[in-house]
Amino acid sequence: MKKRTIVVRDPDFGPIELPVEELSEAQWNLTRERIRARLMKSVLWKPGRIYECPECHRRAFAAAQDLVQEVRRADKVVILKNLHGARCSQCGFRVLDGREELRIDDEYERMSASRHEAAVSRVGRGTLGTYWPKAVERSLELKPGTRLEVDVLAPDSAMIRVVRRPGHNRKPRRQCSKPGSS
Ligand SMILES: [Zn+2]
Repeated sequence: MKKRTIVVRDPDFGPIELPVEELSEAQWNLTRERIRARLMKSVLWKPGRIYECPECHRRAFAAAQDLVQEVRRADKVVILKNLHGARCSQCGFRVLDGREELRIDDEYERMSASRHEAAVSRVGRGTLGTYWPKAVERSLELKPGTRLEVDVLAPDSAMIRVVRRPGHNRKPRRQCSKPGSS
């Protein structure tokens, strides 16, 4: 296999070719497949049998194939249906099969690799401006005057980081509702 490289432009030395480490990803995938194979084989709850519920201890815990799980990340929600596992008909306690946990992991990973397009246009003489998609605006909490740090990694890629001054105009992401306060 040919080793992949990226070219970084250094202001003093010019273009520098750096190898991209691919081995770790291959190893990671192999480990993942091994765990997956093991989990696929293990069925903890046999259909048609009733078990003691781990939560309420009543004999009402049975295999189920219609479990639903919401996967949430930033402003995206995906609802996974017909998941396998077990559920208590008395208290509603439920457990998903290990393989379903993997499916949820996959979905979460898929969602985190969210890619957006932003258009660059001319906003003045020799000045370029970028319009950010609403989803990016919400996720990064962009406001007029927000400062961004841009690290150019290669001629076609960069990493953007939002600069937040501590304690300045920054509300907590999630607020717990307390009784009596609104
Ligand atoms: Zn129960």
